[in-house]
Amino acid sequence: MRDCYAGTAAALRDALRHAVERGGASSLGVLHQGVPSAATLSGDAATAQAGRIRRQLDRLSPVPRALLVVAYAPRDIVCNCRAPCCSGRYPNPEWRNALDLVVVHTGPLLTGCVPNVRLRTALVANLLTRTHETAVSLAQRCGVHRNTVAEHTAILDAVLTGTRQRAGELDAAFARIDTLLREAGIVADETRVQVA
Ligand SMILES: [Zn+2]
Repeated sequence: MRDCYAGTAAALRDALRHAVERGGASSLGVLHQGVPSAATLSGDAATAQAGRIRRQLDRLSPVPRALLVVAYAPRDIVCNCRAPCCSGRYPNPEWRNALDLVVVHTGPLLTGCVPNVRLRTALVANLLTRTHETAVSLAQRCGVHRNTVAEHTAILDAVLTGTRQRAGELDAAFARIDTLLREAGIVADETRVQVA
């Protein structure tokens, strides 16, 4: 965590990672003690800063908030407890819950298509995390024709990440949190950022 950020993406990434690595969003953090923190601000100061960023995030409606969590929260939680029962890596429940919310939200977009929640989940996750996976790989993974993958990708991509003519829902959510974090003084305006 930093006292002041030059960019909103870094502020979101740090705040969303801070909580899970402190065990705040995960019961596994209690089971596996000694989860490390990637903080630069230390201890309570870092936790307070992560809390300030999260409070701004919580001012958004559920869907825009979930879009940002999928895009910027860690997908997995790394655990270094070395307990024999611990695999060292767990799905981040906050990320997964946000993804599920976005998947439900995008359902009505594909009413003309054969419903495939598995495919839609994979596409939404890939689009929001900018993960490049070929249509052939997705088709195999989700048991559908690659034309179906292409068709669903085009619809979801246009709405979530936008087109040349229209901003996507992720862009709109990002613009909103960017304004809030700048107003709160957590992200500095470009003109006031000092060259380090
Ligand atoms: Zn562990």
